[in-house]
Amino acid sequence: MVRSSAFAYDSADALAAAMATPDGDFVYSRRGNPTVRTLERVMAGLEGGARALAAASGMGAISSTLLALLRPGDHVLVQSCLYGGTYAVLSDLAERFGIEVERISGDGAGELSARLRPATRLLLLETLANPTGEVPDLSGLLGVARRAGVVSLVDNSLASPALCRPIEFGADIVVHSTTKYLGGHSDVIGGVAVFADAELYEQVWRRAVELGATADPFAAWLTLRGIQTLPLRMRQHCRNAAFLAARLELHPAVKQVYWPGLATHPSHERARRFLSGFGAMVSFEPAGGRDAGRAFAERLRIAQLALSLGGVETLVTHPASTSHRELDDRALQAAGVSAGMVRMAVGIEHPEDLWNDIEQALPSA
Ligand SMILES: *Cc1c(COP(=O)(O)O)cnc(C)c1O
Repeated sequence: MVRSSAFAYDSADALAAAMATPDGDFVYSRRGNPTVRTLERVMAGLEGGARALAAASGMGAISSTLLALLRPGDHVLVQSCLYGGTYAVLSDLAERFGIEVERISGDGAGELSARLRPATRLLLLETLANPTGEVPDLSGLLGVARRAGVVSLVDNSLASPALCRPIEFGADIVVHSTTKYLGGHSDVIGGVAVFADAELYEQVWRRAVELGATADPFAAWLTLRGIQTLPLRMRQHCRNAAFLAARLELHPAVKQVYWPGLATHPSHERARRFLSGFGAMVSFEPAGGRDAGRAFAERLRIAQLALSLGGVETLVTHPASTSHRELDDRALQAAGVSAGMVRMAVGIEHPEDLWNDIEQALPSA
């Protein structure tokens, strides 16, 4: 790992030349660093992109990309169940810079075609949405965007490149919160944007360097260490999720289970088409509504009540009292979140241990 913030030169001309592009020799680590560059190469390879830009966090990657690409008057189409942090940046841009943000369901190419305008600049999707597990029609939507000259950005944090590579379906930019499955151990914050095209990369790199949103070498090094076990972890995450989703479906105190691996999930067919596994976000609705969801989350002993996901340990949240607490029951319904819903980011523990924990936390029938 190279921790240096600055790199020494013998000649002033050589230093000046190195500063001209992102690909010059290393100058100052906010602009580029050997360890950070290694992470970028690995991520470009994993996602099948031309270039990657590592960022200080997932939001650092997303906000740098949005600020680099959007101008006043632009129209942006977003999948309705977009990550709250991304939606917050877009709302802020909408209010302060006159950018118009419109939501689509993500269910099909026809809906997207009908909403395109001459001012449409960007389409934002997520491979697996949180907490409902929705999967958009990736190839249909990305094909429409490509033909219309609209830049497409796909947040692939919940699938990881182990389950999906959106560039293969036509995405221009793929972003990750590497804090999640890529880092994988809940001990590092980071993000990355991977670009199908090197030109877009350079625009976003310039903006990220200006904003100071680029990655720290130690965070990049920890993320690289996590990536080495990504396929193994992801396999166990997905197996555990399948095991728990099947048991939860049969439990008398559970009204509904949301996991795209279940044949009853509305996105099941699309998940089969676009993903090589169904992910490890299992949400469910215990009988008894809001109070039952809260009580369940507090009674768990192995699974922890904590935000975030993608680490080796199982984390549980009650969205209605945390991430979605500002929404009333009607707004919750519009977001596909019920008042009692519990979101489990399933870890890699022994599945029977997790089930025993869940069972003791659910009300007995
Ligand atoms: C966590 C998350 C982010 C934000 O990433 P940070 O690393 O927390 O900044 C963005 N998108 C999705 C889908 C996430 O789960």
